[in-house]
Amino acid sequence: MEELLRIKNLKTYFPVKKGRLAKRFSVVRAVDGVDLTIYKGETLGLVGESGCGKSTLGKSILRLIEPTEGEIYFKEKSLLSLSDYELRAKRKEMQIVFQDPFSSLNPRMRVDSIIGEPLAIHSLAEGKVRERIVELLNSVGMGEDALKRFPHEFSGGQRQRIGLARALAVEPEFIVADEPISALDVSIQAQIINLMKDLQDKFNLTYLFIAHDLRVVEYISDRVAVMYLGKIVEIGESKKLYDSPRHPYTQALLSVIPVPELEAKKERIVLKGDIPSPISPPGGCAFHTRCPVAIERCLHEEPLLREIENGQKASCHLA
Ligand code: SF4
Repeated sequence: MEELLRIKNLKTYFPVKKGRLAKRFSVVRAVDGVDLTIYKGETLGLVGESGCGKSTLGKSILRLIEPTEGEIYFKEKSLLSLSDYELRAKRKEMQIVFQDPFSSLNPRMRVDSIIGEPLAIHSLAEGKVRERIVELLNSVGMGEDALKRFPHEFSGGQRQRIGLARALAVEPEFIVADEPISALDVSIQAQIINLMKDLQDKFNLTYLFIAHDLRVVEYISDRVAVMYLGKIVEIGESKKLYDSPRHPYTQALLSVIPVPELEAKKERIVLKGDIPSPISPPGGCAFHTRCPVAIERCLHEEPLLREIENGQKASCHLA
């Protein structure tokens, strides 16, 4: 498999004030030492509870949020060493699709301007802009009649199609899809997921697909990474990870997916308490405060993410 993106020890920390009048700062460790490789043409699903750092990781990879430390290589080129000018040119190859297309599309712009803007920025399709915009609309299942309309005139699903057309305008190779269907009705979600799969085949796209719905992630992903408190705790081929999760956190997440009545009943693993604050994550294994099988060693020794079998990796002393 050809490597498209490699991340080494990526950290994104945010300073926060301790109290309203205090001068001292604490640090939120949103992304806390992530190593990850994404291969050309694959969909890597990224899951975890709200606040685990998955959206921050997606935005840090594209440098929409500046990482604090680490390395990002896209097609062997370091993204963190690029100047602002070089980064703007590189963005053509890497795009993002957001959760809420209503807030990510400018409400005062008509669809032709929304999709035409990236073409103008990168001087693409000169002399044939209108044809190119119509072609892009067609590729996401929309027609010319959308050109002069505003975002509020469309349904949520149609707005997400417009968001995809805008992302595709610059012919990217890599798309970070940040909860792209979470704001949509369930009936529309499958349409957008299937559209994304079709577009991937047609344009040879690579996706980092961020979501909290584990069934959707299983459906679309070739591999899945599970995040907890800013770190990847398990990663592997989708089927293997869903059939045989090795990290207790993954096991708990998968145990609460509703299954059809005819399937064997699974035992639900209910995690105690909330996810700890990323300002002061627990020492040792950061999951030990909620782990149903924690042992003494977990309190003071951090487990490394290591290969368990056939490329499946987990960070747990007992895996
Ligand atoms: Fe649980 Fe210990 Fe494994 Fe962490 S290392 S997941 S606390 S068993």
